Amino acid sequence: MFVTLPDGKRLELPAGATARDVAQAIGPGLAKAALGATVGGQLTDLLSELPDGAEVAILTKKDEAVVRLMRHTLAHVMAQAVRDLFVAEGYAPERIKMGVGPVIDNGFYYDFDLPRTLTPDDLERIEARMREIIRAKLPLRRFALPRAEALARFEGRDPYKLELIQNLPEDVPITFYEQGGADGFTDLCRGPHVPNTGDLPQHFKLMSVAGAYWRGDETRPMLQRVYGVAFRTKEELEDHLWRLEEAKKRDHRKLGAELEIFTLDDDIGPGLPLWLPRGAVIVEEIEKLAKEMERRAGYQQVRTPHVTKEQLFTRSGHLPYYAESMFPPMELDNVRYYLKPMNCPFHHKIFAARPRSYRELPLRLAEYGTCYRYEDHGALMGLMRVRSMQMNDAHIYCTPEQFEDEFMGVIALYLEYFRLFGIRDYVMRLSKHSRAGLGKKYVNNPELWEQTEAMVRGALERGGINFIEVEDEAAFYGPKIDVQIYSVIGREFTLATNQVDFAVPARFGLEYVAEDGSRKTPLCLHRAPLSTHERLVGFLLEHFAGDFPLWLAPEQVRVVPIADRHNAYAQSLKARLAEAGLRAEADLRGERMNAKVRDAELLKVPYTVIVGDKEVEAGALSFRSRKEPEQKGVSVEAFVAHLQAHVGARALE
Ligand code: ATP
Ligand code: ZN
Ligand code: ZN
Repeated sequence: MFVTLPDGKRLELPAGATARDVAQAIGPGLAKAALGATVGGQLTDLLSELPDGAEVAILTKKDEAVVRLMRHTLAHVMAQAVRDLFVAEGYAPERIKMGVGPVIDNGFYYDFDLPRTLTPDDLERIEARMREIIRAKLPLRRFALPRAEALARFEGRDPYKLELIQNLPEDVPITFYEQGGADGFTDLCRGPHVPNTGDLPQHFKLMSVAGAYWRGDETRPMLQRVYGVAFRTKEELEDHLWRLEEAKKRDHRKLGAELEIFTLDDDIGPGLPLWLPRGAVIVEEIEKLAKEMERRAGYQQVRTPHVTKEQLFTRSGHLPYYAESMFPPMELDNVRYYLKPMNCPFHHKIFAARPRSYRELPLRLAEYGTCYRYEDHGALMGLMRVRSMQMNDAHIYCTPEQFEDEFMGVIALYLEYFRLFGIRDYVMRLSKHSRAGLGKKYVNNPELWEQTEAMVRGALERGGINFIEVEDEAAFYGPKIDVQIYSVIGREFTLATNQVDFAVPARFGLEYVAEDGSRKTPLCLHRAPLSTHERLVGFLLEHFAGDFPLWLAPEQVRVVPIADRHNAYAQSLKARLAEAGLRAEADLRGERMNAKVRDAELLKVPYTVIVGDKEVEAGALSFRSRKEPEQKGVSVEAFVAHLQAHVGARALE
């Protein structure tokens, strides 16, 4: 047989050769460093037989793909360690039964049916045993068995492995991986693996044990699933563990409760959040920002109802395609009404409310519209995916000639928002149609699709915007630009969206009288750069870890008197701050000062002003800030001016 190498060279090999033989033929250095291979781009190991004519590339520690081999082998090493643990406790090996042990993102797991429940202490002991197995440098061997022999190995010992073999098609070879020889550990497995347990990194950690039904079927036995994470380097493992810790601390559901931002109530329903007073302040501030920016950019505000007749959505083309994402209709006087899942058709009707001339274009209609979407119960997540939401929506009606300026105007708006919020990690994604989806998911007009996509691509390129293109992710009426952002802890969200609609305006019969007197259909841009209040505030909670910049902070200043005799002064200060447009509270409870300061810290109030005899006497104040050094004896007016400057600039710090 022969194989080809990445440089195009052909290599003759005896039949049955493996990637290890290829590495050896290339040179002893490579053979020593080799951990795995790819065959025709597919990950494989050094132990599997190669098909004749394969394109083979040898992988070493430097190749990122080998981490998958490592994770898979670690799952086997974990299984061996679990078996050893229970055998050492005196259990017969047949009491230890095993399900599957696959590779997952960042790590691996294995499902066990054990004589007792695993504890956190067990995880430590299993981990320690795994480290021994790695240090023992056990070689792996792959072999195949005829079906009858494979079944016989597990007969009366492990019903799960038996079932796995019985479910394999007749013609696939039944393969096993053995580590450490016959008295080591052998598992039914397709691979691929690293060639030796000594090739495994010590940069792994067992994270948890959780119940998991065999084959995900709740009528089948519940197994114990042990999760582990593993990386090639110590830095990657540490970074991952740090992110997990931060993610826990920053989780917007946790912070949202602690900082009194929002709540969910069973009597109201899943995905229908309530904004608490502190959350409502943030929402108000964001809305103020959006309206200010939109006014400057020539938008006009409109307002539309939350319910509408079915026929509006039939006309828009949302029904029947979008029906499953809508709350079921209610019937009034034999007419079906729907809660609106989006604002577009309403804005189209405003455009159509009277004849339009080209002089009015571009017409930009904006609304922080409240929408309802019947999102899947399982997809709901805190504020990130909800069923009632307020969208930073607007529709821009324009001529094809105006398109590029309008489109880039929206992108400029995004970038300004990102700057304001300190969002540096984002990816713009041009989502295109797919040929196969035409007439199904997408309006059946291939030329217009190509044209519009080219228009958007051209605009982005001329604007010097970095973007990636993805197939089959467009809206049904046109291509869109979605902006994926990453929070500090690496969580990804689709925040902003900017969509070109070349289809729906025609369905609504939207027209304007062009300069030459003819009637034309406008293009429509749908845009929501600030997403929904729900998703944006959820994101910002995690992004800022609850430490909102001053302009967004629900409470900006907490005044804490040192003793009761300073209460009147504290109150007058609060009044002065409020008069200056700042959100201040005075804590006049009969608690000790330290307790009050701590409470303000827990709520992450940016400034805590402390007043005692000295401050009262001087008509001044002292403050602690979450971001600036502490200051004493500051004049009240200087403090007010300092805060107003921050708020006025919507400064990040
Ligand atoms: P997704 O793919 O996330 O469901 P979409 O493409 O259906 O979103 P659009 O109709 O474009 O969403 O809505 C505009 C923006 O509203 C989205 O970019 C997203 O940021 C936000 N959004 C959409 N659905 C929800 C939801 N269920 N909860 C919170 N925010 C949402
Ligand atoms: Zn395996
Ligand atoms: Zn729209």
